[in-house]
Amino acid sequence: MDFLKVLKSWPADRVHRLIEAAGPEDVSRALAREQLSVEDLAALLSPQAAARLEEMARLAHRLTRRQFGRTIGLYVPIYLSNICGADCTYCFYAVQSGGHGARRTLTPDEIRRECEALARHGFQTVLLLTGDAPQAAPLDYLARAVAIAREYFASVSVEVYALSEEGYRRLVDRGLEGVTLYMETYDRDTYARVHRRGQKQDFVYRLDAIERAGRAGARRLSIGALLGLFDWRLEVFWMALHARYLQKECWQSAVSVSFPRLRNAPPRHSILHPVSDRELVQLMLALRLFLPEVGFNLSTRERADLRDRLIPLGVTMMSAGSSTRPGGYALGEETLAQFETEDQRSPEEVAAAIRRAGYDPVWKDFDRAFCETQQFQEENIFAHGEQL
Ligand code: SF4
Repeated sequence: MDFLKVLKSWPADRVHRLIEAAGPEDVSRALAREQLSVEDLAALLSPQAAARLEEMARLAHRLTRRQFGRTIGLYVPIYLSNICGADCTYCFYAVQSGGHGARRTLTPDEIRRECEALARHGFQTVLLLTGDAPQAAPLDYLARAVAIAREYFASVSVEVYALSEEGYRRLVDRGLEGVTLYMETYDRDTYARVHRRGQKQDFVYRLDAIERAGRAGARRLSIGALLGLFDWRLEVFWMALHARYLQKECWQSAVSVSFPRLRNAPPRHSILHPVSDRELVQLMLALRLFLPEVGFNLSTRERADLRDRLIPLGVTMMSAGSSTRPGGYALGEETLAQFETEDQRSPEEVAAAIRRAGYDPVWKDFDRAFCETQQFQEENIFAHGEQL
């Protein structure tokens, strides 16, 4: 069964009814369980769970520690191109966004300069991004960009337009480790309303893309919903189902989720479903309890003070020192930005904040670091056992 069938079996009115019907006893039942059902997830996303956030936070914290230890991986985006053939109403890169600044695609030499600048900070994990523009950034270009980035970084992921399985395989052959692809919204009507042009209009092709990436050998798969486009409780419910589906179907890949909030948008786009800080906390906690083994990515879209407070609630990866402009690290040009970041601290300042929260910032490959930590712990336990 593909995920579209799963999604169709949970239409909005069914999910809405389930969430609305949840009572305090359903929340208690969900909090007492080791493995949560979809009904439990609905209960934790419901208004009834809003009064139980402290309890949820304690459980989420414990689960995250058990699964991921005390480490937070650091990554940074590199925007390769801000040329885009799509017209997503919420994005400043959209053809008709009216955004100011030059549009361009980095040359291979410029990609190198960006990589060099970021490698000097110590980053080992990067995310390469483009718009929905196969003409400006064709597959050959992406393959070359991945190969260049691999000269500098241990882990390279892409967040680009949806590719065929063969396309993803070509990138994996050049050293690609991960693919990030947000559905933005799982609600088809909203999807059609906000995506007005380009290949991205094809809901089904995009929905299936992350699974194609998994089949092609991408070892990290990251999905997300852009919060603010539709009712967050339903979006998060569907995204959680998608993550659980990918864990089963692409079991060789590590799955992670993102929950970016739409905080500023071009004037033509009104944010119809804003998500408060407290609601963001609730949805993160519900996701962590439903998906204990899934990574959480937290981007610089959120404010610095809030990011610091969210760290213990299940976060496993954070971006730092991000620029959303092509050439934003080394070229010093005022190119068009995709959005303004809220947390403008340097990578070093973010790392210091992570340490203050009691975690170790990890610059190198996160999974490898985690395995090393596990191995270290096992060796220590073994050594201790021998002494006994
Ligand atoms: S969200 Fe992506 S596809 Fe849509 S306009 Fe922005 S860059 Fe282009």
